[in-house]
Amino acid sequence: MIEQELQKYFGFGSFRAGQREVIARIVARQSAGAIFPTGAGKSLCYQLPALMLPHLTLVVSPLLALMKDQVDFLAGRGIPAARLDSTLATDEYGRILGRAKSGELKILMISVERFRNERFRSHLQKMNVSLLVVDEAHCISEWGHNFRPEYLKLPAYRREFGIPQVLLLTATATEPVIGDMCAKFDVPRENVTVTGFYRPNLFLQVTPIPESRKEAHLLERLQESPKAPTIVYVTLQKTAERISDFLYSRGIISCPYHAGMESQERERIQNEFLAGQIDCVVATIAFGMGIDKKDIRRVIHYDLPKSIESYSQEIGRSGRDGGPSFCEVLANRDNISVLENFIYGDTPEKESVQKLLHTIQQHPDRTWEIRPIALSYELDIRVLPLKTLLVYLDMEGIIEPRYTRFDEYAFKYRVPPSDIAEQFQGERKEFVQAVLQGCHTKKTWTHIDIPGILHAYARADRQRVIVALEYFSKKGWIELQAKQEVEAYEILTRDFDLGTLSGRMCGLFATKENQEIRRIHAMVDFFESDSCISRSLARYFGDDIERDGCGHCSLCKTGRAVLAQTVKRKPLTAFPFHELTGEFVRVARGQCSVPSVTKFLCGISSPAFMKLNARKLPHFGALERYPFLEVRRWVADCLKPQR
Ligand code: ADP
Ligand code: MG
Repeated sequence: MIEQELQKYFGFGSFRAGQREVIARIVARQSAGAIFPTGAGKSLCYQLPALMLPHLTLVVSPLLALMKDQVDFLAGRGIPAARLDSTLATDEYGRILGRAKSGELKILMISVERFRNERFRSHLQKMNVSLLVVDEAHCISEWGHNFRPEYLKLPAYRREFGIPQVLLLTATATEPVIGDMCAKFDVPRENVTVTGFYRPNLFLQVTPIPESRKEAHLLERLQESPKAPTIVYVTLQKTAERISDFLYSRGIISCPYHAGMESQERERIQNEFLAGQIDCVVATIAFGMGIDKKDIRRVIHYDLPKSIESYSQEIGRSGRDGGPSFCEVLANRDNISVLENFIYGDTPEKESVQKLLHTIQQHPDRTWEIRPIALSYELDIRVLPLKTLLVYLDMEGIIEPRYTRFDEYAFKYRVPPSDIAEQFQGERKEFVQAVLQGCHTKKTWTHIDIPGILHAYARADRQRVIVALEYFSKKGWIELQAKQEVEAYEILTRDFDLGTLSGRMCGLFATKENQEIRRIHAMVDFFESDSCISRSLARYFGDDIERDGCGHCSLCKTGRAVLAQTVKRKPLTAFPFHELTGEFVRVARGQCSVPSVTKFLCGISSPAFMKLNARKLPHFGALERYPFLEVRRWVADCLKPQR
């Protein structure tokens, strides 16, 4: 029966591995999980059941920007779907919510941050939702490789909005992560289907190679078939530029791609690659998510990937058409420190954590409102770890998130305010007049003074004001826009010992840091492993293959790889410390400490460095190839007061 629906709506003749099992569970009103590699068809696991469930399917995805194609795909098949993102015009946004509330829409895609938005939440209360789909569900697990603190709140939202079923989707969950995901969302482990990690058409090659030989090797490799669609992955933006230029100068049609480029430029490169006008993209990890190009023939890791999970995802982009594809890692130990430095930069300094706790203790009100980016600068903690820290404090019972509001609503009148008030009678009219009196027009935009309105009119509350504005906007009387996000917390207690608590928080970050560093070393061990690479990879994700050896990896073909340190490093004591750090010390003045000097030398950026423009100073990252902990010991020695 579901086969008929598959044919009718999607025009597919049969299910792919795992799909039927997952779909049958969802249709039988159970919760489930699908762990299939990228491109294996996880989306169908909710797209098809969404048509058979009574109410809405709400899809939470961190890649919302990439969901446009999916919405178009569904629309093309007569399946009512939409996505809510922050770029939508207000009237379009309102129209989508209207369709969701009326039951017309079957699938609504949102980002996880949307839940903190009070406008959205008040709408969601009025919707009937059958199924919550969590895409990239491994993000909920701190054991996973891509932990996103906001995901920890999803189980609570599911309860708050009474959503009966949940479907967890991911391409990268190891057994501990699966256990963690299931426990948090209350999904029985046996309802999780793992499949498809063995890819018989990919040849997995690990090539031990000295750093100095990598460029030439890459060029030779590409010249074997210069037109074959290829992605070359590198760690750093500057390497992407350098290698792409090098290849281009040797006749390979290549382009760089990284997060430091203009988004228009990135889009152009992606499109030209899809269309076959560019043969090779030299990219950081910023490239590839959501790329649906079937005939990628080669994925070459010029630098080591970040983890086994990243490796699996990145090579998984090749050979989607089932044709033979070549995946090669140019491997040595020279850049391991560069990978580790990404992790060290995410661990906040103890002083920063203490400063945050002090702020909470000194805050005069129960409600504590923050602007995450501003706070990140103030404390010198990157935004992601700052959010993690706030979630930790939530779990400690110190603070509790209340809502995300927009610092400021603003709108443009499309009809005169008096015409708006005219539409109402009695108490509602008085209320609307009070709202409009609290709105002040400057040039084109009208600003709303919500506290002023609450003060002036006893029967107004925040929610009612917002609902009224929404209504005006829906009627076309105003064009409404929400600005700067503010996250509001309630401070539950100030009765904590600052030293003890900051120690505990730093302990959590230290554990996390340790875990992430171990993840890098697990990957190095994996590339050096003495058993079949295809099989080890599938097993890592809980998918076992029958055969002993695959016959299409470098271990099966040529044997074990050994990764070496190939760039000679002179001892740190041979560097002129004061020459390397002089300019930084002059610019940073008060902020000059062992941690900050170490980060500077290792090329690790931080919010405070952005303000100082430290990346542009001479010798930033001069020691990026040295282990962070060694550099820190050396810096501590050099900064010791001289006797
Ligand atoms: P994932 O989310 O697992 O990375 P997608 O859900 O985006 O993968 O699916 C990848 C592609 O496979 C899509 O183009 C989709 O239409 C196609 N696909 C999914 N299921 C089937 C099927 N049963 N038969 C044929 N094509 C399918
Ligand atoms: Mg997907």
